Amino acid sequence: MAHALVWFRRDLRLADNPALLAALDAGLAPVPVYIHAPEEESPWEPGAASRVWLDRSLRALDADLRARGSRLILRRGDSLAELERLVAETGAVSVYWNRLYEPACIARDRRVERALRALGLGAESHNAALLIEPWAVKTGQGEPYRVFTPFWRKARQTLVDVRPADAPVRLPAPPEGLASLEADGLGLRPPPGQPRWDRGFWSFWTPGEAGAQDLLEAFLDGAVHGYREQRNLPDRVGTSRLSPHLHFGEISPRQVVARLRGGEWPAELRQDVEHFLGELGWREFGHHLLFHFPHMAQENLDPRFRRFAWAEPDPALLAAWRRGRTGVPLVDAGMRELWATGWMHNRVRMVTASFLTKNLRYHWRHGAEWFWNTLVDADLANNSQGWQWSAGTGADAAPYFRIFSPPAQARKFDPRGAYIRRWLPELAGLPDEALAAPWEHAELCRRLAPDYPLRPIVDLKASREAALAAYSGAGAAA
Ligand code: FAD
Repeated sequence: MAHALVWFRRDLRLADNPALLAALDAGLAPVPVYIHAPEEESPWEPGAASRVWLDRSLRALDADLRARGSRLILRRGDSLAELERLVAETGAVSVYWNRLYEPACIARDRRVERALRALGLGAESHNAALLIEPWAVKTGQGEPYRVFTPFWRKARQTLVDVRPADAPVRLPAPPEGLASLEADGLGLRPPPGQPRWDRGFWSFWTPGEAGAQDLLEAFLDGAVHGYREQRNLPDRVGTSRLSPHLHFGEISPRQVVARLRGGEWPAELRQDVEHFLGELGWREFGHHLLFHFPHMAQENLDPRFRRFAWAEPDPALLAAWRRGRTGVPLVDAGMRELWATGWMHNRVRMVTASFLTKNLRYHWRHGAEWFWNTLVDADLANNSQGWQWSAGTGADAAPYFRIFSPPAQARKFDPRGAYIRRWLPELAGLPDEALAAPWEHAELCRRLAPDYPLRPIVDLKASREAALAAYSGAGAAA
């Protein structure tokens, strides 16, 4: 049986993996390969939290392959050079992979495809990551969409026949003696002797295909019931928490949709299921935007912001935001959740992003970079979209006058303060009514929460007025 390389990237699963299945369907023996080449994704190489996730995910994939008779070959270096070396070592006749949509990856993959074909090898790519590829839906004028609702209305109609494939039961072993690095050789984990800042993550997460499937089942048994309301409440597991698994391709959106459709949902739950599908739609929309507007990871999508008067960041204030020491409890709770778990609830992401871009008026890139390094689900399409939406600079952004008031958001979505107390133990002794805006209860705080900042790092009301003036001055009100 001739060999084919199956080049794994962010499709770290065996079920519904079109590249793997295509190699098998062609009658070839797949050699599963992962090549670590972070610099090829520059300037968006995986951040620190992504790297520790990837480390575990690769180990899980290797274990799943071994359980089927195969194993994961790990290499490090230039992707094309390593693929060529592996072709020489295995006699492979083709290389199969699943597509990525970030600009640097698209350029790299085109280069690899051309070079492999020039060598007379097969080079085949597939869609494993999206429900709808970015070029598959267009407006009536043949343009990419810039607004979510019409995009999703159109894209949603294409989801008629979603049939994910099962994982192969057995796989042939790669050629004997084929060299592979140890997972430790990729340098994804903090080196020995350095603080293991990720230690707290793993009571929240189980990277890998089995972990993803377990979360999906838990979601369908639990949080999907009432998702429309519960998804806004950060104190509970009211969402699927599938984002890192989707990012690394440990589960495909097709599998999620097929599982949702397979359920016999009572009428009252259908709206919850539809709402959840719409969130997957936002993920699709982010990828649609990034593919058609590849500059969106660095530059404002809305050109009216080209000369916007962002404030020069004060390093001390930026550090206070990052570390959850702004004196605004909902913001601080979110930033500490992020630091402790590598994830932050969506509602709180919006509040912390609004605080940075509107109250502090710092360029959204400062926030996007911190999230990039600290989120286990850091995803160029979703992160750029989330930040541009929050800053009001995106294609389909929040209107410029939407400046979240963190105290109002806390009173509405964390009314008993359970979320704030969990992440800010120094406030645990305050009564519920003081948690949203402790500076309004200065005397109480001095006594009961002496370790928390007495005042916010920026006056919320004055900074809101200043942001409104700056935004309307930028023509955003037009
Ligand atoms: P669920 O509510 O269970 O949703 C299911 C899936 O739908 C998610 O796993 C995700 O893949 C997708 N999804 C949900 N909401 C959104 C959204 N608003 N935009 C795009 N996709 C969405 N999401 C990331 O995956 N990576 C990021 O780097 C990222 N950065 C963000 C930055 C900011 C400033 C903001 C406001 C949002 C960001 N999001 C990002 C979107 C969103 O916060 C997360 O996808 C969501 O919180 C993940 O939790 P979940 O899996 O429980 O979501």
